[in-house]
Amino acid sequence: MAKILIIGGGAAGLAAALTAAKTLPGEQITLLERLDRVGKKILATGNGRCNLTNMNAGPGHFYSNDKGLLRQALENMPPRQVLDFFGELGLLCQEEEEGRVYPYCKQASMVLDVLLLALERAKIDVQCGCTVTSIGRNKGKFTVKTADGRSFSADRVILTTGGKAAPKLGSDGSGYVLAQQLGHRCVPVYPALVALKCDMNGLGGLKGIRAQAGLTLMAGDHTLAQDVGEVQFTEYGLSGIPAMQVSGRLSRLRKGEKCTALVDLFPQWQSDALFRYLKTRQKADPRGTLETLLLGTVHKRLAYAVLKSAGLQPLSRPCGTLTAAELHRLADMLKAWPFPVTGTQGWEFAQVAGGGIPLKEVNPSTMESALVPGLYLTGEVLDVVGDCGGFNLHWAWCSGMRAAKEAAR
Ligand SMILES: Cc1cc2nc3c(=O)[nH]c(=O)nc-3n(C[C@H](O)[C@H](O)[C@H](O)COP(=O)(O)OP(=O)(O)OC[C@H]3O[C@@H](n4cnc5c(N)ncnc54)[C@H](O)[C@@H]3O)c2cc1C
Repeated sequence: MAKILIIGGGAAGLAAALTAAKTLPGEQITLLERLDRVGKKILATGNGRCNLTNMNAGPGHFYSNDKGLLRQALENMPPRQVLDFFGELGLLCQEEEEGRVYPYCKQASMVLDVLLLALERAKIDVQCGCTVTSIGRNKGKFTVKTADGRSFSADRVILTTGGKAAPKLGSDGSGYVLAQQLGHRCVPVYPALVALKCDMNGLGGLKGIRAQAGLTLMAGDHTLAQDVGEVQFTEYGLSGIPAMQVSGRLSRLRKGEKCTALVDLFPQWQSDALFRYLKTRQKADPRGTLETLLLGTVHKRLAYAVLKSAGLQPLSRPCGTLTAAELHRLADMLKAWPFPVTGTQGWEFAQVAGGGIPLKEVNPSTMESALVPGLYLTGEVLDVVGDCGGFNLHWAWCSGMRAAKEAAR
């Protein structure tokens, strides 16, 4: 019988297993993983570089339906905890822009390598290809059953199955079902940190273009979310970090409420300064055409598409014929180019799942279930989602470590 049994060998599960083994040397710690190896998702993180935490990790970068409890849970989870954890495993880390922390060698595979070596040295019983299908609790002991007919018993169980995002990398939503078997609820889940599907209105030709831009998500006159960074234009809509950052807010739209993404191709400029700039260019080259008016500024294909969206055609039209109102229209379009949002890409393309097991059903200081003593819930299976930038892994490592420390008490 395991002292502590961990279900799911992702970031939270691996941090939990190593912390449990360190706190309870010599005790049996068992880790069950449904895929043929642990940590598969870690390899895909940060474009293969693994953005493993963020020096600015704090409540402002996380969302949950239970904000107060989330704040409480994050109180004792400083980024230093993640750096110390990996420092002890011998992983050299480096801070980059916006507080993002990566392994010094920029390889996600190195993060997994140090974790695997530590697992082996700690003699943790790791069982791969082991899909947990049920958990029961009787007389203070847990019984965990797997799809291939095996049964495990344990004093304590830590549920680290992740959510539902990127199911090919392991997390297929089964963790929600397991928690529900023990009486937990699950608040509606939605794909987050995912690209936006938009009505491209004949603008599919922009596919592949990337631009430094602002992105504002609007529902009518109401601003839902904003971000600035590299926006990627695709055949189905908008991708890149800004699109992913704002995507989670779509889940808060009321049924039938429409939403628009406004792309700002000159995020550092005020509209009137942009208008004056366009006016100066027009004056300098009145015989130039619309085709050359924006040459040297934004990507050519973007420039043509913006002119079209502003109703300024044909491209052979001399610049000198543009009225002040038309130049204002162009400046406004460059600052707030509208793309009607029709939804988001699906679970396969999402980096994380929003929603999940409500935080009010766990003790935020220990991660222990408020309903089932001896059961701990951590990582993405809970109703916690972080911004892009290392925050989701931060939550996974720290909540996994916290749960294991408490479970080992
Ligand atoms: C492509 C991609 C890139 C990302 N990049 C970053 C990044 O750079 N920085 C960042 O902070 N976050 C990133 N994320 C998000 C981050 O990876 C996750 O939030 C984090 O891994 C969640 O950790 P977890 O341990 O809770 O769940 P997971 O990592 O999903 O692990 C859950 C594990 O449980 C196993 N499991 C599930 N169900 C069962 C079951 N029934 N029985 C047994 N095992 C089960 C799964 O196979 C999986 O191994 C990225 C996500 C993706 C998809």
